[in-house]
Amino acid sequence: MARPVFRFAPSPNGRLHFGHAYSALLNADFAERFGGRLLLRIEDIDLTRCRPEFEAAIYDDLTWLGLNWERPVRRQSEHFDDYRAAFAKLKEQGIVYSCFCSRKEIADAVVLREATTGQPWPRDPDGAPLYPGTCRTLSAGEVAHLSASGRPHSWRIDMAAALALAPGPHLFKRFDKNGEETTCHADPARWGDAIIVRKDVPTSYHLAVVVDDALQGVTHVVRGKDLEAAADLHVLLQALLGLPTPLYHHHDLVLDQVGDKLAKSRQSESLAEVRGQGATPDEVRRRLGFSPQPTPST
Ligand code: GLU
Repeated sequence: MARPVFRFAPSPNGRLHFGHAYSALLNADFAERFGGRLLLRIEDIDLTRCRPEFEAAIYDDLTWLGLNWERPVRRQSEHFDDYRAAFAKLKEQGIVYSCFCSRKEIADAVVLREATTGQPWPRDPDGAPLYPGTCRTLSAGEVAHLSASGRPHSWRIDMAAALALAPGPHLFKRFDKNGEETTCHADPARWGDAIIVRKDVPTSYHLAVVVDDALQGVTHVVRGKDLEAAADLHVLLQALLGLPTPLYHHHDLVLDQVGDKLAKSRQSESLAEVRGQGATPDEVRRRLGFSPQPTPST
């Protein structure tokens, strides 16, 4: 039987914190217990925020923690053509459209609709207002005119059209710590007309992750609960692109002393800092609920 394939997929836009360490160690722990392989993927599509020194620090921190992963490492910024090819397939199906709206324009449109209807406008699982569909009905002439004016645009999935093409039910499997599997229903519609290709790069997190998991043969996705709802959209993209759906496990997030989620943007204590203060890898592993590093056999 083929060995299960796990992956840890950090973004090199800051130093790793305890939340990343937990996710990486949990992937390694699953891989070990399930007789699987562990891959590392560098998710660096955000060309303005990702930096080579953070990538180097990821390798350094993970090695310090005692982790081993297969080489070569897949770096997303080197595979934009793969994402372009996947996007072309969605385009051929007529289920994407160009969106020229700025965030401010979307926010204004939503305020207006809320004022007119007296009802709160629906939000996506990240808390952002669902796209009100302004650009969905642009004519080919209007799109050509706006493009020619040099206005940057993203590409959105036309959720209703996509669901008409792939009505589902969109079933996928979750697995728990013991490998027990449960079948679940994905609800992609909660994302509305999500951005599939950003203005600045030829992909989005959602498209890149789905393409990469398939190309790398990932069978088991282990990541934080903050990405749990993303699976609803990923399962739809997999159906539209004819890609396999891996099994998913979304783990609890590591919280700080006041119960907030750790985040690079909140300057959460990094692994580098605790290393600098003299912590050992085993202390970090223990603090996160993992057993000490096995001593290498001689
Ligand atoms: N790159 C994402 C992050 O650093 C993880 C994506 C994933 O595991 O699907 O949060």
